[in-house]
Amino acid sequence: MAAEIWPQEQIYKLKKSGFPVLILETANPSAIRRNVAFCEAVYQGTQTVEDMTCYLAGSMEQAQRFLADGKLTVLVDPVGESIRELKPLAVVDAILAKKNLGTSRELAPITVALGPGFEAGRDVDAVVETKRGHHLGRVLWKGMAAPNTDIPGIIEGAAEGAGLAAPQVGILRRLALVMVEDESFLEIINPEIIAREGEQDGAEGCLSVPGKYGMVKRPMQVTVKFQDRHGEWHERTAEGFTARAFCHEIDHLDGHLYTELVSEYLDPSEFADDDDDYEGEDE
Ligand SMILES: [Zn+2]
Repeated sequence: MAAEIWPQEQIYKLKKSGFPVLILETANPSAIRRNVAFCEAVYQGTQTVEDMTCYLAGSMEQAQRFLADGKLTVLVDPVGESIRELKPLAVVDAILAKKNLGTSRELAPITVALGPGFEAGRDVDAVVETKRGHHLGRVLWKGMAAPNTDIPGIIEGAAEGAGLAAPQVGILRRLALVMVEDESFLEIINPEIIAREGEQDGAEGCLSVPGKYGMVKRPMQVTVKFQDRHGEWHERTAEGFTARAFCHEIDHLDGHLYTELVSEYLDPSEFADDDDDYEGEDE
């Protein structure tokens, strides 16, 4: 789910742009969030995602040294005690609690919050929309993010889309979840499309590319060979929307995004606000 992926991507980008980045975490980041991110360093001491390593600091002093050394750093500080001490340029509240647990504009020259529960211009300088749909990722300078029920959590996010590929959440394995005909999620490991038939045109979106939708040509029917979590091989033939979901997710495993295949982007304003009705949407 992008709302969970999003902070990680932004952490990565901020760090790559040369900003010192300190992540504050709880002592026990939840299972969902562990999978997502740098916060796994809380358990392991370090966590590497792609070419970036995050280091667990044991104290605020150690965090300061790590930051001075240019290290991406995580500190267990669930209530943000260190913020007043460290006086950062910017504070991003990515707790996604759907309410303000104590973030205010006095904390830093720039304050940003993710999701509902904050008023931009009053509680914080800017609020980032986290509701799934075409406003996802939008920065609000006034007002509040849309209320939502599907945040936080990759799993809930995935339950509203048609799939999720492990690399989207920082796990570099050939593993994906794909929503199949009965709307349950199928785990596919080391999947390979072994047969394709026909053609279909349809709209796709991707939570790794928030707010965009485009028309993509896919096979009408595919047969996929894959392993389950016990290592057993299976074959499955799917058509229509399910075939499209298999293609989209398997492309992620090969490092490809649907945007490479888009023939035409769609204007998000064409869509109704209720994205759940939007059949072409996918993770
Ligand atoms: Zn995708």
